[in-house]
Amino acid sequence: MPAYKAPLRDMRFLINEVFDYPAHYASLSNGKDADPETVAAILEEGAKFCEEVLAPLNLPGDEEGCRLQDGKVTTPKGFKEAYEQYVAGGWQGLSHPTEYGGQGMPMSMGLFKTEMMGTANWSFNMYPGLSLGAMNTIMQHASDELKALYMPPLTEGRWTGTMCLTEPQCGTDLGQVKTKAEPQADGSYKISGTKIFISAGEHDLAENIIHVVLARLPDAPAGTRGISLFIVPKFRPTADGAVGEFNQVVCSAIEHKMGIKASATAVLNFEESTGWMIAEPNKGLEAMFTFMNTARIGTAIQGVCHAELSFQGALAYAKERRSMRALSGKKEPDKVADAIIHHADVRRMLLTQKAFAEGGRAMIYFAAQYADHMTNGIIEGDQKKYKHWDDKLGFFTPIMKGFLTEMGLEAANQGIQVFGGHGYIKEHGMEQIARDARISTLYEGTTGIQALDLLGRKVLIMTRGGAVREFTSMIAKFAVEHMRDAKMRRYATALAKYAAEWNLLTMRIMLTARKDRDVVSAASHHFLMYSGYVTMAYFWALQAAVASKKLAEGGDEKPEFYKAKIATARFYFDHLLPRAKGHASSMIKPSKSLTKLPVEHFVFE
Ligand SMILES: Cc1cc2nc3c(=O)[nH]c(=O)nc-3n(C[C@H](O)[C@H](O)[C@H](O)COP(=O)(O)OP(=O)(O)OC[C@H]3O[C@@H](n4cnc5c(N)ncnc54)[C@H](O)[C@@H]3O)c2cc1C
Repeated sequence: MPAYKAPLRDMRFLINEVFDYPAHYASLSNGKDADPETVAAILEEGAKFCEEVLAPLNLPGDEEGCRLQDGKVTTPKGFKEAYEQYVAGGWQGLSHPTEYGGQGMPMSMGLFKTEMMGTANWSFNMYPGLSLGAMNTIMQHASDELKALYMPPLTEGRWTGTMCLTEPQCGTDLGQVKTKAEPQADGSYKISGTKIFISAGEHDLAENIIHVVLARLPDAPAGTRGISLFIVPKFRPTADGAVGEFNQVVCSAIEHKMGIKASATAVLNFEESTGWMIAEPNKGLEAMFTFMNTARIGTAIQGVCHAELSFQGALAYAKERRSMRALSGKKEPDKVADAIIHHADVRRMLLTQKAFAEGGRAMIYFAAQYADHMTNGIIEGDQKKYKHWDDKLGFFTPIMKGFLTEMGLEAANQGIQVFGGHGYIKEHGMEQIARDARISTLYEGTTGIQALDLLGRKVLIMTRGGAVREFTSMIAKFAVEHMRDAKMRRYATALAKYAAEWNLLTMRIMLTARKDRDVVSAASHHFLMYSGYVTMAYFWALQAAVASKKLAEGGDEKPEFYKAKIATARFYFDHLLPRAKGHASSMIKPSKSLTKLPVEHFVFE
């Protein structure tokens, strides 16, 4: 397994030089304590924990996996101690309100932390990660009484949480949820049903697990409009907040998975378990989705994590492994052969990983500012503010989740390729990265579902192309501003063309969809990928612009960092952005080539 080193210089570049986080934090009601020194100190401390505690557990955790015995799950050796350190460090409540025992930092700080933890050890990160999802949902939708009981132990990390949506018959189509909720005289509910694939559903890290569960009331309408949301603890808390009696949430199995083996994925049977409703009856799905954008950023980060870790491993190997001579002549004549990093094709793979990791990080750090505003709307009880920023984030989220996780997977595969046959061998850890990355395009909505959400909901139905117009106007503005700068002209020209084309493609699909409804599904994947490549191009151009300016100004920072940024931006525009052209061409083809073949002729003989 590659030794993880947190990319603190790149994080500082984005925080201070590209996105001006100091000014952003100063503008937030909960950002006053996030001054540059505090932010730097938190990130350095987090990096140390991730590098020294979490990263060394990644490979052994994958080998050992989780064990289930008598309904109890044991996590791999070292996880419990690492979790205790995590809790003692106050990391779980970093971005949650001080009234619950958190540190009250803006949401973005939590996202920066997630990237470091997830790169060091994604399986470990799943336990506190799912808990954050549960905390956000409870914070926004539960009564004050329930919040007072559940939020402090969750914020401190003494208890963890889960999100229980999926059932054997449905994952995407939650309208099919069958779990039942019977009202009781005391205002509670008896919850009965089976949930599958529940991450962190059972484990030995915390003294209690609080499940946030989708279930149906007896008189609920069919489909998505008949689903309510409940808190169902593993152990019922006593009135004073201690851990009480077992609540009949039985873990009957854990999945044997391709990757993230140290993350327990549980089958949970709710056997008349006591639950309490949060949010309004039959509006549970809506409530569950309020924090969906931030949850999906959390999974988008997984793409960056795997790209980063795989890049770090491949880079070190490419500098050591020797094979033949570079075509342009010997690079290390005193050695038996040149290091493989001198071959252009190996550089293509390394630069692809670097471009996806750093380009993806830039996308996340941009979106994290939207997430800060959105969360502040919730904390301040300002529904209008919340909605404004949630809508802005809503367009960007499926692009990030869909595109970055697919790119993370590609980068992880390139990491294996750089290692040659050794990439396929377990001890180097490169194959683990690819196995761990594979889930990211499936959970929190598959890539196909992100694509439909983007094109169908966000672009066509909700905004009739307005979301694309708004986002591309930012890109076009950047292009105009940089067109006269000789160093930036190549990026500005390309961006101006893509921004215009993105709108044209949107209009074309919108018109075609009036006659051919299938075209939305048929075009959606290509539309998502096109949007991803063009969006990442903007963030690479932005980074190149800042790096050029910094180089021209001089200063104390190492110029090599800025030069590498410019070189990677150039690589991205020359080698990766052209992929968008293929997606543009495919997305406007008639849906017939996909739909014409009758199901009964879809055979293998
Ligand atoms: C390791 C792991 C951890 C998980 N953690 C959790 C968790 O903590 N909590 C939880 O509730 N769930 C969890 N899940 C479940 C996960 O979110 C679902 O598996 C996922 O949402 C996909 O649902 P599905 O498996 O039912 O696939 P399906 O919905 O059956 O989809 C199958 C295929 O059909 C496509 N498809 C479906 N509908 C459409 C459509 N309308 N248009 C076009 N294509 C479509 C999909 O894109 C996919 O390719 C986890 C799953 C795994 C494997």
